[in-house]
Amino acid sequence: MANRIPRVPAREQDPATRAANFKEVCYGYDLAEATAEASRCLHCRNPRCVAACPVGLQIPDFIAALREGRLADAAAVIARDSSLPSICGRVCPQETQCEGACVLGVKGEPVAIGKIERFIGDWSLEQPGTPAAAPAPRNGRRVAVVGSGPAGLACASDLAKMGYGVKIFEALHEVGGVLVYGIPEFRLPKERIVAREIEAVKRLGVEFETDVIVGRTVTVDSLLDEEGYDAVFIGSGAGLPRFMGIEGENLNGVVSANEFLTRANLMHACDEAYDTPIRTGRRVVVVGGGNVAMDAVRTARRLGAEATIVYRRSEAELPARAEEVHHARQEGIDFRMLTNPIAVLGDERGWVRGLRCVEMELGEPDESGRRAPVVKPGSEFEIACDAVIMALGTSPNPLIASTTGGLETTRRGCIAASEEGATSREGVFAGGDAVTGAATVILAMGAGRRAARAIDDYLKQK
Ligand SMILES: Cc1cc2nc3c(=O)[nH]c(=O)nc-3n(C[C@H](O)[C@H](O)[C@H](O)COP(=O)(O)OP(=O)(O)OC[C@H]3O[C@@H](n4cnc5c(N)ncnc54)[C@H](O)[C@@H]3O)c2cc1C
Ligand code: SF4
Repeated sequence: MANRIPRVPAREQDPATRAANFKEVCYGYDLAEATAEASRCLHCRNPRCVAACPVGLQIPDFIAALREGRLADAAAVIARDSSLPSICGRVCPQETQCEGACVLGVKGEPVAIGKIERFIGDWSLEQPGTPAAAPAPRNGRRVAVVGSGPAGLACASDLAKMGYGVKIFEALHEVGGVLVYGIPEFRLPKERIVAREIEAVKRLGVEFETDVIVGRTVTVDSLLDEEGYDAVFIGSGAGLPRFMGIEGENLNGVVSANEFLTRANLMHACDEAYDTPIRTGRRVVVVGGGNVAMDAVRTARRLGAEATIVYRRSEAELPARAEEVHHARQEGIDFRMLTNPIAVLGDERGWVRGLRCVEMELGEPDESGRRAPVVKPGSEFEIACDAVIMALGTSPNPLIASTTGGLETTRRGCIAASEEGATSREGVFAGGDAVTGAATVILAMGAGRRAARAIDDYLKQK
């Protein structure tokens, strides 16, 4: 299926300028551009885009409403299934979900569903009293939610819409999870977008308590047995960084991407008005090839460093979104593919001075289906650098599982839960990265929404 109207390009900040600032890279669509792009949609009878969306957004309906100039209706269609359209429109991997399934993509370019969703979400944030803002009458039952990332926010929003009294307990001093401490400002503006979408969740009547570490300050058991909550949802994410276990990894100047990005975002190290320390030196190497690696390397670049990605497979296997890799290249990031570190090298004061690496080549496919990297004999070489950032993935923190009676975990240290979020412990549900390991915003939201329905069923039967 082809469409004669070309996809409307989204305007972006010039690469050379943006490599030195933290302002948003993509400007998104204005009304004329969003309406023109909406006119490309065929309003399919069996829309493949909807089937491919983890929260089942009614994509053709909100696109049609926008095309007809009914923006409030478009926002209301989205609000039925998602509380975070401005966020999802910016960070969802649409190319492998809705847009990847769009029928127009078979012979041409898919509808820019993400950019349209972002436009409607941003429009909605400008309107007083958005459709998502009407709190439901309370039903007298209370649910505690652990963690204020996308899973917790989605679960809490849906429960509040059903009439439950919901309180989110968050370990950090700010709410939003990875949306505030991980994904950088230049991809996801914090004040303008994240804080305002969270405000919309608050207007549903959801309460927030920050600086509460569940497992330390309170426990899941005490929330149920002493504080009178009828059920608990655990959406505590996967914030525990992995390291390579190579020599020199404990030298000064080696950090996890999580720590680096938390300093830059949550602790405002990239804002001159704050004096949060952050080390980049002149040359930074980021080890890894996912979205987290791209965010870390682009942040280091903006802090003035020559920044390099070191990745052990080839470009074709890079797990990061193609758009992020493209943006990183435009900003002058150096990519060293088929390269694996074997030791971090230090100077006499215990600070990083370089990385010893080996060249790799691709062998037979491994259990992930990707061709496994194998070391090229005799290929050792050194890269000089002042800081190394490890972006090798994360796992769930074991604290909650180890302090909650009868809560089973998987071999990978994730909380064991059904598709609907039921855990081995009655009245305790879980979802998002805490259950799947590091995944995506929309999958976490989908899990939070399914768990909200399961909690509703459970409490109605109880
Ligand atoms: C740098 C980075 C970039 C990413 N980029 C993208 C992207 O472009 N697109 C995309 O879709 N996904 C992206 N992801 C992944 C995505 O952000 C996560 O999959 C998603 O945020 C998971 O949501 P969650 O609610 O399960 O967990 P989180 O967002 O991790 O939220 C969990 C919350 O629980 C809190 N918490 C943890 N333990 C406790 C406790 N004991 N007590 C109280 N609170 C607790 C944490 O402080 C945190 O606020 C990225 C992740 C990172 C780190
Ligand atoms: S698959 Fe594409 S063309 Fe069809 S309804 Fe969805 S967005 Fe529109």
